Amino acid sequence: MSDPITTVAPDVATSESVARKLEAGQDTQNVLIVGVGGQGVIMVSKVLAQLAQTHGFQVKQSEVHGMAKRGGSVFSHVRFGRQVWSPTIPKGEVDILVALEWAEGLRWLPYLKPGSGIFFCDTKRIVPPFSCLNRRPGAPMRYSRETPAEVIAHVGEGHAIDATEMAERLGNDRAANVVLLGALSTALGFAVADWEDTVAKFVPKKTVPVNLEAFRRGRAWVDEAREHTPVMEAPVTATPAPADADYRVRLEINPAWCKSCDICVKMCPEHCLRLNADRIAEVAAPEKCTGCRVCEWLCPDFAIRVHVDHGAAAIQEGAR
Ligand code: SF4
Ligand code: SF4
Repeated sequence: MSDPITTVAPDVATSESVARKLEAGQDTQNVLIVGVGGQGVIMVSKVLAQLAQTHGFQVKQSEVHGMAKRGGSVFSHVRFGRQVWSPTIPKGEVDILVALEWAEGLRWLPYLKPGSGIFFCDTKRIVPPFSCLNRRPGAPMRYSRETPAEVIAHVGEGHAIDATEMAERLGNDRAANVVLLGALSTALGFAVADWEDTVAKFVPKKTVPVNLEAFRRGRAWVDEAREHTPVMEAPVTATPAPADADYRVRLEINPAWCKSCDICVKMCPEHCLRLNADRIAEVAAPEKCTGCRVCEWLCPDFAIRVHVDHGAAAIQEGAR
C-alpha cells in the first residue's frame, strides 16, 4: 500500500478566517459535501448540522440522495450562521467542499468560492459500473486524469487525502467519511471534544473507537500538511496494468449482511452469481468473473467485497 497522497497548497489564513467568521456569527458558512451512494455523505452533513445547531446557529440542510445505495451521485448542502435564508448554496459560494470521491469532487469544484474556498477530497475513485467498456482490472477507463497537484493549484486551499486507505489501515474502510470529517474540523471553529461527541452519536456503538481514531487521523493529517507544506505529485488513477495481465479474483460474500435482494445476481455482467437455497448470494461461475466490482458497488448492504490480486497465474482461483 502506498502512503496517503499528499498534495497541499496550504493557506492557514484561509481556514483561520473561516473559523473567525464562524465565531463572530457574522456570516453564513456554506459547506457542500459530495460523493456517491454508500459512502456516508449524509452522515457527514448530519454531524456538521447537529454540531452547528448545538452551538446556537441557525442551520439549513438540503440533500439529494435518490441513488444513495446504488453508487449514484449524492450531495448535501449545509449552511449555518446567525440567519440563513436558503438551504441551497449558489455556485461559487461554497466555503468548504468535502468530497468523498475524487471525480465527484472535481465535478463540484465550480461551486467553491474562487480564491478562498477550501477543498478536502478523498482520492478514492469509484468508476460508475457501466462506464467501462472493458471491465478487466487495469483496462483503460473513462475517468478524470487530473492529478491532485493540478486540481489543487486552482483552489484557495486544497487537501487530497487517501482517506479510504487510512480507514482501511484502521480496519474499517467505511470510516473514510469520518477521516474527512476530521479534515473538515480543522477548518471550522468548533471544539474537538464537541466534534467527537457528535461523531459518536452518529456511528454504530461498536464502531465508535475506530471512527474516533479515523477522525483524529484526518485532523492530524491536515494539521501536519499545513505545517510541513508537503507537495507530492501523485496520480489519482490506479497504476494501469495490461488488460490481459494475470490476476486472481476472490469474492468475499458476508451471508449475515446479504438480504437476498438479487441485485448482484441480476446485474453481474458475466452472470456468475446466484442465490443459494437460503437465498444468499454465492458465486456460481467463478471462472467467468472479471473482477469488475459491479456486484460490490451495487450491493445495498455491503455484503460483497471483491479482491483482485495481480500477478497470480490463475484467475479466480480463490473464489468461493
Ligand atoms: S449480496 Fe447484496 S446485492 Fe447480492 S443478493 Fe445479497 S444483499 Fe442483494
Ligand atoms: S461476480 Fe461481481 S466482480 Fe465478478 S463479474 Fe460479476 S459483478 Fe463483476
